[in-house]
Amino acid sequence: MFAPQDDRYLFLDMNSFFARCEQQVNPALRNKPVVVAPYTGTTGCCIAVSYEAKTLGVKTGMGVGEARALIPNLTVVESRPELYRHVHHQLVAIINDFTPYVSVRSVDEMTFPLASYEQGGDRPFALAHMIKSALKQKLGEWLTASVGIGPNVFMAKQAAEARKPDGCVCIRCADIPAWLRRWQLTDLKGINTCMERQLIRLGITQPIQLYTTNQEILRKKLGVAGEYWWLRLHGYPIDSAQSPTKTIGHSCVLSPDARRWDVATQVLHKLVQRVGERLRAGGFTSSALHLYIRFLHSPSFRLHMRTRPFSDSRALWRYTSHMWERAPRIHTPFMIAITACDLHGEQMHQLPLFANDRKETNLYHALDSVNARFGQWTLKPASLIGTERHAPSRIPFGNRQL
Ligand SMILES: [Mg+2]
Repeated sequence: MFAPQDDRYLFLDMNSFFARCEQQVNPALRNKPVVVAPYTGTTGCCIAVSYEAKTLGVKTGMGVGEARALIPNLTVVESRPELYRHVHHQLVAIINDFTPYVSVRSVDEMTFPLASYEQGGDRPFALAHMIKSALKQKLGEWLTASVGIGPNVFMAKQAAEARKPDGCVCIRCADIPAWLRRWQLTDLKGINTCMERQLIRLGITQPIQLYTTNQEILRKKLGVAGEYWWLRLHGYPIDSAQSPTKTIGHSCVLSPDARRWDVATQVLHKLVQRVGERLRAGGFTSSALHLYIRFLHSPSFRLHMRTRPFSDSRALWRYTSHMWERAPRIHTPFMIAITACDLHGEQMHQLPLFANDRKETNLYHALDSVNARFGQWTLKPASLIGTERHAPSRIPFGNRQL
């Protein structure tokens, strides 16, 4: 393992990305409270919140109705994934001018290791300043980023989080204890309220204890995770910059006119096609599926199923339908999600034994290449004709790959 070393990674996090994209392309929205939501009706939820709305108490994930109640003159914009994707690709191209090693963490987050001539003294700050100028010049002045520099990706992300918007913070190994004393446990990325409760039960109430407690004792209390926390907080680069894909899933909040079982079935079919395409594009097979349905005003339904390894959409749809038929039809579906789990590289499995199976695999690869070249849904199952309006393309946010 590499020893801790200052200024090893730079982390870049765009500020209120979707909301700022809207404010950049539409000057009438600037300096005003704006939220972006998949649907502008009261049942939608805010997936991005402008700083003007944040200061008035609106939070990401809040219902649109609740946000409107807080800010009567709030502007709610329907999300435009194509716009955000376009800006994302421009952003990646800009960062590629500075490094050949960029690792994209999500639609608005990326990280890369600094070269030796970029480390030490004011050099990381000079680099951050150049990146910020390039963003301003090429993307526009409303698309700002917070930059963090640290001995590992974790600390660099914490540094980026420490000053928003448009900040630049460098956390060096010697400064880590002082930073840890300022934070609560849930300020550390990866510790949620549930994990916080577990830590408190074990006598760890402050982040600094994960730093000062002996590594062996942490291992005894928390297992290998405790040791990892100790190493991470001491600046060891234990987390790879590139997180491996563990699951591939798609979800959709149904628009009010799609909250019927017949339409929801078509939407699910569409999600299944997307999951299948991404499985094959990543060279994966899956051997487990998870279906989640949230109902309007009723408890949600979830089902997990182990399957034979598959990557073709027909098998995926067969397994998914099997679970879908078990969902209680007396409730109104509100949100559906299908996730392929237990992923393996396709090459780890034997090639299909029967000629028909081989044909099917080849057929799906051919369909994918046509759609990759001429646009999604150029070729699609006949059952999806007429579903264009439902489950429009959405963009992932949080720590996910595009
Ligand atoms: Mg961000």
